[in-house]
Amino acid sequence: MPLRLPCTRWLALYLFSSSVLAASPDGVVAVSHPAAAAAGARMLAAGGNAIDAAAAVQFALNVVEPQSSGIGGGGFMLIHLAKTNETFIVDSRERAPARARADMFAPEGLPMEFPLASTSGLAVGVPGTVRGVDTALRRWGIKKLADTLAPAIELAEHGFRVNRFLAADIVNDGGRTQLHPETAAIFRPGGVPLAEGDWLVQPDLARTFRLLAAKGPDAFYRGQLARAIVEAQQRSRSELGAAGQGRMTLADLQHYQVAIREPLVGHYRGWTLAGMPPPSSGGLTVLQMLGLLERFPLGDATQGYGFGSPKTLHVMIEAMRLAFADRAVWIGDDDAVAVPRQGLLHPDYLATRAALIKTDRRMDTPQAGDPAPWDKTAGQPKPSRIKEESPHTTHFSIVDRWGNVVSYTSTIEFTWGSGITVPGYGFLLNNELTDFNFVPSADAAEGNPGANDVAPGKRPRSSMAPTLLFRNGKPVAAYGSPGGATIINSVLNVTLNLIDHGMTMQQAIDAPRLSVTHATGKASCEGGQTFMQPPISTATLDALRKLGHAGLGEAGMEGCRETIGSVQGIVIDPSNGAHRGAADARREGAVTRLRAETASTATRH
Ligand code: GLU
Repeated sequence: MPLRLPCTRWLALYLFSSSVLAASPDGVVAVSHPAAAAAGARMLAAGGNAIDAAAAVQFALNVVEPQSSGIGGGGFMLIHLAKTNETFIVDSRERAPARARADMFAPEGLPMEFPLASTSGLAVGVPGTVRGVDTALRRWGIKKLADTLAPAIELAEHGFRVNRFLAADIVNDGGRTQLHPETAAIFRPGGVPLAEGDWLVQPDLARTFRLLAAKGPDAFYRGQLARAIVEAQQRSRSELGAAGQGRMTLADLQHYQVAIREPLVGHYRGWTLAGMPPPSSGGLTVLQMLGLLERFPLGDATQGYGFGSPKTLHVMIEAMRLAFADRAVWIGDDDAVAVPRQGLLHPDYLATRAALIKTDRRMDTPQAGDPAPWDKTAGQPKPSRIKEESPHTTHFSIVDRWGNVVSYTSTIEFTWGSGITVPGYGFLLNNELTDFNFVPSADAAEGNPGANDVAPGKRPRSSMAPTLLFRNGKPVAAYGSPGGATIINSVLNVTLNLIDHGMTMQQAIDAPRLSVTHATGKASCEGGQTFMQPPISTATLDALRKLGHAGLGEAGMEGCRETIGSVQGIVIDPSNGAHRGAADARREGAVTRLRAETASTATRH
């Protein structure tokens, strides 16, 4: 990706491409789109803190990366406050409506087809982003909601240039920008898909943002806009008929509440990680994998365990398979079901699981373990249904001049969500409820808790894993990724690159990734792209095949070609407090830093 130094329209900011690290004590924003990075930096420059910047980034992303996140969805905002040294999460995950039922995606016992269910109103969860961002702003921000909406309003009203990622997602939409006329009118005007370089203006979305700026979040959760959401999610695909209609009511919207959660905290080789607890599987599964891998000398090339070596990749794959077997059974929204967090992370339990990893061959397909002896739950589980995952969602990381940090992963679930744009309001509704099990798995006789079965008011299990890394009690890095279940593996890859392989954040992001998201699953891997150094070699892939691993492209070829995730990270240098950002060229990642003259006297945090 070439170095670009555009002057933003708003402020004297330096905008760097992903190939350049920006160092600054005045705040850094790392986002998957330069216009959204600029929106966040504009808040920091105007005296705002990381929470204000996060709000502005989220709203701007709704405009410039509408296929991935927005006010029709939800997310997890991991916040660290420098002054009090507190870390917590604003959980704005979508919730199932009160009328949701465990079998609603399998009315006759047969699961609906994912492409149909996920583009019907039935898949739409009660959106949380507006309430989540507003809650964070009111409690920990400096700016008003209206201030943070201003850059997004300008972008929606004046327009922006469609980048190649948005253009490609419109063309490869699986039909989602064509199913509903309001969505097609925005992204396929006159029936022609927007192309790279086209100018996109979104007047309906701008009006919606103006409404929120004037009236606050209640304008979203009550009144005309709420009625429009309820009506829009009554749409169904003709193949599903009434069974595909959404079950959300005005009362569901009115009663939507965010949760403020303690992060899940774990340790790896002397570092501390704060991650996302249930309803996400992100933190638990990352920490489980790190616990399994800690007994292997991953960074030590003299023992054959350097970066990208067959031995290192082999044990990573096995750790992923073991952790994903547990995830399938044990993890769901633990406001609704008991998740054996303690057992899943207990060192003695992890020792029994790690003993299954053989260094000379791929293990047979592992079942979920039984963490009950190390927790309070008992029984023999059976795996939940696995569903198709999309490569979308978005992650951004921010640090401000006071050292407050935000690591925020946000989503409307699949690329383009449900494909339903709320008529007259210009934003897409999520299909998050398809993150639930399609067929209920609860089985008392077999000890399966049905951790991720649909239930009224419950949050679907997520994979999102916004992460903070601490050294000596101080945050030193924040990162996360989109990518469905691969999110967990992208975060694992980056964590190992930082800690075991001694990479900078930019190197850790650029390095090729490896991912397996199911105990039986094939390994996907990246390679061949010029921005990743070094690619996983053909010899390494062949060595992994000899150990019994499948996937990895064709034998004897540079088979790893797909991209996995899109990580945006920041680093706080503990030696001098300097802030650095690193963005991912797998999307139009951008790092924006501030100049010292923008310093303000605000002292709230
Ligand atoms: N819905 C997914 C989750 O919460 C994210 C979707 C994606 O990244 O593709 O884990």
